[in-house]
Amino acid sequence: MSHDAAEIPADPAPGSGPGLARIHPGRRRRHRLLALVLGAAVFVVDTFTDVTGAIAVLYVLVMLAASDTFSRRGLILLALACAGLAVLSFFIAHGEEADASAVVRCGISLAAIGITTVLLLRDQASKRSLVQANAALARSEKRYRSIFEQAPVSLWEQDFSEVRAMLAALRQQGVQDLAAHARAHPAFARDCVRRIRTVHVNDATAELLRLPSPAEALGPIERFLPADDPAPLAVLTAVADGSSQFEGRAKLAAADGQVLTVLLGIAFPDEADEFGRVVVAMVDVTQREQIQQTQLAVQAELARASRAATVGALSASIAHEINQPLGAVVMNAQTCLRWLGKDPPDVEAAVRAAERTVRDGRRAAEIVQRTRGQLVRDQRSDEAIDLRALIEETVALLETELSTHAATVVTQFAPSVPPIRADRVALQQVLINLMTNGLHAMAETQAAARELTVSVDGPGAPDAEVRVAIRDRGKGIPDEVQARLFEPFFTTKRGGMGMGLAICRSTIETYGGWLTARTHEQGGAVFEFALPADTAQAS
Ligand code: ADP
Repeated sequence: MSHDAAEIPADPAPGSGPGLARIHPGRRRRHRLLALVLGAAVFVVDTFTDVTGAIAVLYVLVMLAASDTFSRRGLILLALACAGLAVLSFFIAHGEEADASAVVRCGISLAAIGITTVLLLRDQASKRSLVQANAALARSEKRYRSIFEQAPVSLWEQDFSEVRAMLAALRQQGVQDLAAHARAHPAFARDCVRRIRTVHVNDATAELLRLPSPAEALGPIERFLPADDPAPLAVLTAVADGSSQFEGRAKLAAADGQVLTVLLGIAFPDEADEFGRVVVAMVDVTQREQIQQTQLAVQAELARASRAATVGALSASIAHEINQPLGAVVMNAQTCLRWLGKDPPDVEAAVRAAERTVRDGRRAAEIVQRTRGQLVRDQRSDEAIDLRALIEETVALLETELSTHAATVVTQFAPSVPPIRADRVALQQVLINLMTNGLHAMAETQAAARELTVSVDGPGAPDAEVRVAIRDRGKGIPDEVQARLFEPFFTTKRGGMGMGLAICRSTIETYGGWLTARTHEQGGAVFEFALPADTAQAS
C-alpha cells in the first residue's frame, strides 16, 4: 500500500479528504506509529496467546488511532488490512480445527471492524463537506471583499443594529407613523442617526468624503449628514417598515465642507442579527444636479421673460386697439358735458351722449377681452390630457427643485380620472406655478414636514368636473393677501412678478374651469382648480 496514494491531499479539493493539512505532520506520524504498535500487539496476542475472547475486536482501536491520518481510500485499505490480520490470526491459531465459538468470535471482530469503518467514513464525509462549505464561504467572502474594495462607487458597511432595535421598540409602543412621530419630536431623527456607525468603507468612499484614508470614515455617520436633510428619516422609515431595500437621494457633508448630493442604495438583510453589517452604496450626482439646476434656472428665466413678453405684447396691443374707443369715450363724455352745461341743459342729447359713452366703454372692455383671448388662443393647441400622467411628469420635472427645498411630494389619485381637454404646455405651467409657489411657501417650515400633496378627484357625475388640489405645509394665506392673490402684479416676494397666479387663473378659466385658494384647517395653503371632464374621450 502506497502511503502517498492513501494520504489525504493538503488542499481539500472536491471529493478529497477532510483536510489532512491541518494535522501536524509530527502528530500524524505518532498516530500512525501508535496504530502500528497497537495492530502488532493485537495480532501477537490474538495469534500466539491462549487468551480467549474476541481479541481482534481491538483492531477497532487501531482504526480509531489512525482514522484522522488517512483519506477515505486509506481508511478502507486499513480496515481491509485489520480484517486480513484478524482472519490470518484465526487460521494460525485454530487452523482446520476451529470450534464454533472461535468462528463466532472472529465474526464479531470482523463485524466490529466493518461497523467502525462505516462510522469513520461517515464521520470523514461530514467533516469533508464542512470543510468544503467553509472554503466556499471563505472564497465568497474574499470575492465580496475584493469587489467591495475595488468598486468605483462609494460602498459602506454600517451597523444599524442599535437603531433597528430602537425602531422595533417604538413600533411595539404603538408608533406606526414615523414621519408624524418625527414631527412631534424634532430631535428624533438626529437621535437615531447618532446610533448608526460605519464599520467599513472602501477607497472610493474616502475619495468621496475628501478623507485621506478610509479609516477616517469609520465611527458615527452623523458628522457626514447635514442637519436639514430629510433622507435619513426616509431610511429610518424603510427600516421600521421592514423594507428589503431603500433607494433615494441624500445630502452628504464632505470633510472639506462641501455638501454633496448622492444617490443612495441600501440593501437591508432579512434577519435582525445581520443588521450589524448593512451595505450602503452611494453615487455622487452633485455635478449632474448643478447642471440640472442651471438648466432649470435658465428655464425659469426664460419662462419669466416669455411671461414678461406676453404681458408686454398684451399691453402694447391693448393700448393700440383701445385708443380709438377711449378717444370716443372722452369725446362723448365731453359732448355730454356740453349738453348739460347749456342753459337750459339739453338732457335728451346729454343722455344720448352718455349712452354712446357707455357703448364705447363696453367696446373697450371687449377689445381687452378679445386681444387677451387671441393671444392665449394663438399659442394654444388643445388635446385630451391624462392628468395623472401629466402630474407625475411635472413632479419628475421638479425633482431638482424639490430636493433643493428638501421637500417631498405625495400624490393621491381617485381610482378613475377621466381625461380633460386643454393645452398641455399651458396646463403644465399651471401645475409648475402652483407647486413652485407651494415650495416657496414652505421655506420656513421644518425640513421633515415639507410636503406637497397633489390630489386628483374624479367627477361624481359623468360630465362633471375633475378637481385638482395642491396643498403645501407653509403658513397659509393671510387675509390681506387672500383678497389680492389673483390680481396681476400682486406679489409679496422680493423679485416676484405677481403674474403667476393671474395667468394660472386665466388659463384655467379659458378651459371653462375655476381656480381658488384657501388656507387648510390644519395649516398650509390649498390651491384647487377644476376642469370639465372630456366626455368625448371618456366615453
Ligand atoms: P409671485 O410668485 O411672483 O409672487 P404669484 O402670482 O404666483 O406671483 O403669487 C402671488 C402671491 O401670492 C405671492 O407673492 C404670495 O404672497 C401669494 N402666494 C402664492 N402662493 C402661495 C402659497 N402657496 N402660500 C401662501 N401664499 C402664496
